Amino acid sequence: MTETLARLAVPSAVLGEGPCWDGATGALYWVDIPAGRVHRLDGDGAHRSWEAGQTVGAVVLRASGGLVLAAADGFLALDPGTGAVSPLVALGLAAGVRMNDGACDQAGRFYAGTMAEDEAPGRGALYRLDPDHSVSTVIPGATVSNGIGWSPDGGRMYYIDSPTRRVDVMDYDPATGAVAARRPFAVIDAGDAVPDGLAVDAEGGVWVALWDGGAVLRFGPDGRLRQALELPTPRVTSCAFGGPDMETLYITTAAGPGNSGGELFCAPAGVPGLPGHPYQG
Ligand code: CA
Repeated sequence: MTETLARLAVPSAVLGEGPCWDGATGALYWVDIPAGRVHRLDGDGAHRSWEAGQTVGAVVLRASGGLVLAAADGFLALDPGTGAVSPLVALGLAAGVRMNDGACDQAGRFYAGTMAEDEAPGRGALYRLDPDHSVSTVIPGATVSNGIGWSPDGGRMYYIDSPTRRVDVMDYDPATGAVAARRPFAVIDAGDAVPDGLAVDAEGGVWVALWDGGAVLRFGPDGRLRQALELPTPRVTSCAFGGPDMETLYITTAAGPGNSGGELFCAPAGVPGLPGHPYQG
């Protein structure tokens, strides 16, 4: 598959993350975390970006219009039409802790996690922002809260706390958002690589970006490794499905040693991905 990997003509990021497909407009959003910037690539190749005014870990669509960001210390609304950024819900995080990866479930609850900038163990958490703007802690004591996704039937939630070098799975109740029985789904045993972001396809395959692993791995619903997509740069941060048939995998990367990295790539996945969900609040 490597020969079909393409680099997209957009500015390189310092720490590209959080790809998010907008099927209604055929556009891809992603973020550059330390730059505090939200990027969009339209189907015609046009690129735009917006300044969040603080670090931004993830971007999702908002059902009522615009975008919601998991930013430095809470949730922000961004209007791409005007560039206006406004507070949505503050989290009151401790100094040195910032928001990181996030995604919405099928009911439009926005899950986003945190991490200490110095990656001090246990200072992060996974939070859930409900459509009524209430926030609850789903997983306390995380270190680098990262990839989040759901099985096609919505009954399982996948979760990555990167230093564990595992992808975990939990039972998930789509009606209530309740999680239970967190357990290992897949273990990453590949040198210095740690799992970062993830995406789930329509067959239940789980695609996992490997930071310092230079690849995206696809695990079957049984947790067995099925496929590896190699990237020409080591710090692969996240991936998301998009394109007219949802069979394109978009992959974000971060700058690393040797002045490489930070590019946005795409590749045919050979299987359609599950669409993302907008925040319903
Ligand atoms: Ca990440």
